[in-house]
Amino acid sequence: MKTFNYSDLTKADIARLVQRNVDPANEIRTLVEEVIEQVKQNGDSALIDFASKFDKVELTKLYLDRAELEQIASAVTEDQQEALQTAYANIYKFHKTQLKTEDKVETMPGVTCWRELRAIEKVGLYIPGGTAVLPSTFLMLGIPARIAGCSEIVVCSPPQKNGKVNAFIAYVALMLGIDKVYLVGGSQAVAAMAYGTETISRVDKIFGPGNQFVTKAKTIIQSTTTTAIDMPAGPSEVLVIADASAQPAYVAADLLAQAEHGIDSQSILVCTSQDIADKTLAEVEKQLSILPRAEIAKQALNNSYIIITKDLDEAMDFSNEYAPEHLILATENWEELTPKIINAGSVFLGNLTPESAGDYASGTNHTLPTSSYARAYSGVSVDSFVKKITFQYLTEEGIQNIGPAVGILAEMEGLHAHRNAVSVRMRPDNNKF
Ligand code: NAD
Repeated sequence: MKTFNYSDLTKADIARLVQRNVDPANEIRTLVEEVIEQVKQNGDSALIDFASKFDKVELTKLYLDRAELEQIASAVTEDQQEALQTAYANIYKFHKTQLKTEDKVETMPGVTCWRELRAIEKVGLYIPGGTAVLPSTFLMLGIPARIAGCSEIVVCSPPQKNGKVNAFIAYVALMLGIDKVYLVGGSQAVAAMAYGTETISRVDKIFGPGNQFVTKAKTIIQSTTTTAIDMPAGPSEVLVIADASAQPAYVAADLLAQAEHGIDSQSILVCTSQDIADKTLAEVEKQLSILPRAEIAKQALNNSYIIITKDLDEAMDFSNEYAPEHLILATENWEELTPKIINAGSVFLGNLTPESAGDYASGTNHTLPTSSYARAYSGVSVDSFVKKITFQYLTEEGIQNIGPAVGILAEMEGLHAHRNAVSVRMRPDNNKF
């Protein structure tokens, strides 16, 4: 990992360092646009061709039904079932509180406004399954979708080498009451859910993280179709802020946990001395050597770096500029630092709170904005699966109270039909129009 001194960096250097997952020659865009076009034109047969090309699997059927899911899920051991149930319970508990009804507000006598939630009817969940299969993502998307009450949930996940999904994905499908999983991955899955095919229904909103192909497809369909997306949730990243009160072994483990996701993942350490950086790097070397995914992690670390700052405030300035998906405050002084966080997807406080807890089972959602989108987007929650519809009701008193102001405002804008829509309802003695 390269090391930089924050005080030596110019604004342009910082802008370059925080930039990630760019596609300067539009290579990914071009490829993904072609995939989307093929799916749009050829539907299921394009999906079968792409499974052969990208996943190296010859499919005869594009989905697994309930009986097949039950048979595959039977391989999950009791310990594994218990772990999945613990995660389910905590995620459910945390997300359930997000479904809130709002109070009605009388903005002036006789004028009442309020918002009501309605679930998005048809949602599509993308469950990554390229370099690692992520049943945890299935829980993170399926639980809020169920709490929100979405009536149709389409699930796509890449086929594994045996032309199926793995046992954990099948088990989670059954936990969530989902009877069908489509064996489609990558940008073709996003296209299928946005346009619909012979077997896959078009959905209103697509959720889920994925690699650069998946994320690019989501950003394209967001601007070219009427299907919405949760957010751009691409290759994972962590930024750890550490001071002398941090434990280098813990920090190293957190950096590696992120790096093993994929070669395009990024792990950033922002620390207050060279000594912390050296001790952490020594730990990274030690722990890396025994990781099964060491090769992937090594490549991700080549794409990562360390910044040395003079204090925690400067570290937070850099972090806010980077806007990390995951932010770990590896310091005993996290309480002082927390109010200074402006941009981050999900935050892990103190030395005993690893990102892994939130990745799997503490209760918070792990589908989060990456590539600095945390400046403007939040992670997935129950809110992501609902619309908030506004309502208003005017009484006789209400129309008399609000009418004059609305009439004048409509006149100011030269919209006389708008003015008339209130004046026809007003009492003659109160009607200036
Ligand atoms: P994936 O399911 O996202 O992608 C696999 C699919 O990509 C394959 O099925 C294939 O169809 C397609 N593909 C592979 N190579 C291709 C190529 N050359 N051209 C076109 N398509 C191709 O699985 P993955 O690759 O393991 O990536 C998962 C990603 O999700 C990781 O980058 C991880 O960091 C990220 N992630 C992000 C979050 C978040 O909240 N932001 C959470 C979890 C995981």
